[in-house]
Amino acid sequence: MLSNSAKPVWDIVQSLEAGFHKLSDDIWDHPELNYQEFYAANAHRAQLDAHGFRVTEGLSGIPTALMGEAGEGGPVIAILGEFDALPGLSQEAGLSVQQPIALGASGHGCGHHLLGSASLLAAVAVKQWLVENKLQGRVRYYGCPAEEGGSSKSFLVRDGAFEDVDVAISWHPAGFMGVYNPVSLACVELEFTFHGLASHASAAPHLGRSALDAVELMNVGVNYMREHMPTSARVHYAMIDGGGISPNVVQPRAVVRHLVRARTLGEMWELVARVKKIADGAALMTETSVEVNQLSGEANIVANAVLENAMQENLLQLGGPGFDDADRQFAKQIQSSLSIDDIRAAYIRFGFPSSDESLSEQVAPLYGASTDGIGSTDVGTVSWVVPTVQCRVSCYAAGTPYHSWQLVAQGKAPAAHKGLTQAAKAMAGLASDLIKQPALLTAAKAEFAQFRENHSFINPVGPEAKPALRMSMK
Ligand SMILES: [Zn+2]
Repeated sequence: MLSNSAKPVWDIVQSLEAGFHKLSDDIWDHPELNYQEFYAANAHRAQLDAHGFRVTEGLSGIPTALMGEAGEGGPVIAILGEFDALPGLSQEAGLSVQQPIALGASGHGCGHHLLGSASLLAAVAVKQWLVENKLQGRVRYYGCPAEEGGSSKSFLVRDGAFEDVDVAISWHPAGFMGVYNPVSLACVELEFTFHGLASHASAAPHLGRSALDAVELMNVGVNYMREHMPTSARVHYAMIDGGGISPNVVQPRAVVRHLVRARTLGEMWELVARVKKIADGAALMTETSVEVNQLSGEANIVANAVLENAMQENLLQLGGPGFDDADRQFAKQIQSSLSIDDIRAAYIRFGFPSSDESLSEQVAPLYGASTDGIGSTDVGTVSWVVPTVQCRVSCYAAGTPYHSWQLVAQGKAPAAHKGLTQAAKAMAGLASDLIKQPALLTAAKAEFAQFRENHSFINPVGPEAKPALRMSMK
């Protein structure tokens, strides 16, 4: 087995890790929601400045979207980062029982504090490696806000931020190591606002037209549609505004958000048309009107076998993050708050036999993970315009669900820091391979070009759509 110093860029990552563990902890301490990530974006900007990157802020008119570039000439390698948190997941670090820091506050329930910090570490290490080796090539760090529902990357793609990029690389913190199966669902988030007529609910109910009734009927209609849609498709909804707190006022305005997901963009838009018809039907039944506003959109991910194999090679050379007994002990405690079925299902899902190990160090076989129960990511939209690859790296106890307090609780643990460093090594390793081996880059681009020859792409956020900068303020 090769040692961790098999690639010079890995030594650079190792030498720089402390500053990025600190950055990650700092962002964990300041959880911010969709498009409100000002603290995190500033902290990333400060690191980019300190390491001599050329920084562009405000991409696509989004105040918290930024890009830093270093190097000259050669290919352009983009490393994608995120830093947004989730609502209602406040949790003390290092505990294996649920204990919010502040009730109802936000928390890093998807590990994006680690995600952005590792991607930035990888970019800084590649920059240093280019200088030390006097190589032509540019590395970029893209700080992409609002992954949790805002899909900023789709707007960045639409506005040309990736136009001259050769390859995009990213990762996600996880309970296991491996290259992502190139499968994700296309998705779109739509907000339906119904307008009715207010009236006294007892004295003059016949004069009122209830927007809340319309929302309820719409949801019933969508629920009846479920039986008649492709099994891989998904529709979820959240009530944003029920029309107020008074049952004795006929609600004149009510708002519901629907998230529609499907295997392909075409299938997704067909389903969206049906959901819109149901909304129109609900408005017709209740004599209200409805307006629809698109909040976000993400394409399904495009495979690139050349990059997937090259990333897998890096992971196999690196192996696990090197957890110790204390790491495993804490992970075991976390697992005691999960069900045995959850843990077992996670192992099976990632292509491993079920195991007693609380933190996984093994690299999953390429394409070994199940393609059921998949989610969506705005990295998917990037993958339609640039050859793209993502890996996952163990940072959390095996079986920890995403968007849970257990995941937040592990966000500053030594195991999470070790995963952060390992992820940066995997990404920086692949970036250095692509710069040193022109044939590898050419092959990745040729595979991409061939795919695009036969598949046209329409960005799920259209030319008129605007980033929902205030979506988490409602
Ligand atoms: Zn995430």
